[in-house]
Amino acid sequence: MPAEPYQPVGSPKSDQLRQAPKVVLHDHLDGGLRPSTIVELARETGYRGLPTYDPGELAARIQEGARRRSLDLYLEMFSHTLGVMQTERAVYRVAAECAQDLADDGVVYAEVRFAPELNTEGGVSLDGVVEAAMAGFRDGSESRGIRIGLLLCAMRTASRSLETAQLALRYRDRGVVGFDIAGAEAGHPPSDHLAAFDLLRRAGMPYTIHAGEADGLDSIREAVHTCGARRIGHGIRIVDDIGEDGALGSLAAELRDRKIPLEQCPTSNVHIGAVPSIAAHPIGTLFDLGFRVTVNTDNRLMSGVSLSSEFDRCCRAFGWSWPEVHRLTTNAMEGAFLPADQRREIISQVIDPWYAGLPGLREGKGLTPVPGFVSHPRHTVPDTERTSGPV
Ligand SMILES: [Zn+2]
Repeated sequence: MPAEPYQPVGSPKSDQLRQAPKVVLHDHLDGGLRPSTIVELARETGYRGLPTYDPGELAARIQEGARRRSLDLYLEMFSHTLGVMQTERAVYRVAAECAQDLADDGVVYAEVRFAPELNTEGGVSLDGVVEAAMAGFRDGSESRGIRIGLLLCAMRTASRSLETAQLALRYRDRGVVGFDIAGAEAGHPPSDHLAAFDLLRRAGMPYTIHAGEADGLDSIREAVHTCGARRIGHGIRIVDDIGEDGALGSLAAELRDRKIPLEQCPTSNVHIGAVPSIAAHPIGTLFDLGFRVTVNTDNRLMSGVSLSSEFDRCCRAFGWSWPEVHRLTTNAMEGAFLPADQRREIISQVIDPWYAGLPGLREGKGLTPVPGFVSHPRHTVPDTERTSGPV
């Protein structure tokens, strides 16, 4: 059946958004566990810190705890997820289920991050933690139409960033695609970790930096100028460099002109109190002004979100439709820490054909459908059998 190019696009439905091929660049492994897995791993590993062993109740308690409008209080909730991620077997299972859950949500490429230094209390080595995660991603991704790259985080409040950067380089070309620093932002500038960034820069390994989430423009400036970040985690405070009339200050103009990807995580930002609501989130303005904005989950469990639910909320808040979802997905793929030929291959073979097959997309904002395209291919995510026990 031929495409009907002039049919109205309409608002994306949530099940369609779930089916659409999507890309996530900012998703924390230790922020996305299934509640049932936390309970089972707590029993298996002897972790005794859970407030309840009922998975539904546990999810509610963690999500309540994460919504106290403070990044520091939000980060406290990680004690329960990290508490059960101190064995290789547990890290492997969490990574495998992460791959399955992202694939079930229509994600075709993901960069998932975590800080191995927080998974060694049980005596596992840093290398052991990374290998367990990579094995979990590999097995969880198999036959599910998703590819996952791993980002290793160092905690900005600690002093293991150089060691973590060396670790990332050891596993380069074996699944680790980049580096990040995470954790409490205010009072812990990225320049505290210059030795790690210098090492990575000399080796040509890309990195992103959480900046401009709970701290201001100086944090973003340092991340870009002093540390050489290729992307910015959150970066929402860049709006402080934009006038009410849309006039850009020099830093904002630089981010836009250099197409530095901004890994935005709207719901998470609301929960930590960085913005009052999704509608008030700067992602809409930044997108309109031509920044390379991307939509991300941050912590699927803590925030009770998926990538498709984040798109759903943003579509409703900002009036976005399929052309915007397509552009944001392409932005994310272009910002991925993969070689350009591999990025383009996913865009041209997986992303573009799916969106071009949507009736009415031709009416969108300048998107060009594949010439002569007549069918409506759908990216199909194979049915997955969720594992409830260790995998
Ligand atoms: Zn984050």
